[in-house]
Amino acid sequence: MSLVGKNIDAFCSRCGFTLAHVVLYEVGGAVQGVQCKTCGAQHRYRGARTGVSRDIAAERRRSREAPRPRPPVRPSDSRVWQQRSAAAPPDAVVWDYRLTERYETGDILNHPQFGRGFVEAATADRMEVIFREGRKTLAMNRQPTPGEPG
Ligand SMILES: [Zn+2]
Repeated sequence: MSLVGKNIDAFCSRCGFTLAHVVLYEVGGAVQGVQCKTCGAQHRYRGARTGVSRDIAAERRRSREAPRPRPPVRPSDSRVWQQRSAAAPPDAVVWDYRLTERYETGDILNHPQFGRGFVEAATADRMEVIFREGRKTLAMNRQPTPGEPG
């Protein structure tokens, strides 16, 4: 349903407040251009800079959508991942991650959930891997569970 022509709360940089605006146009279903009903200025829609009560509502919405918050990505880990990715030769061997395999420092993994990862440290049965979304400790070199092929 299009919002063009409808009223919407938006932050007006000229007025300096969140005020009623009229939607001028949308791109891909998202409101892009609005006109301030107070001063008449036309500008890009940046969303309503909301007050406290609305922020709480948004927070509640977010927590309902994501019941299990992930640990935050550490920028340093992400940078290491990018450096490793840039340094990896294009023909580098990428191993599919399997619990029963043994990996060594410097190996490149493909994890079904986390994607490409670089083994930073390894012990007998676990390793530290840098993924795009951060550093994770993964089990490896474990006995195959009975009934599992391979
Ligand atoms: Zn205005």
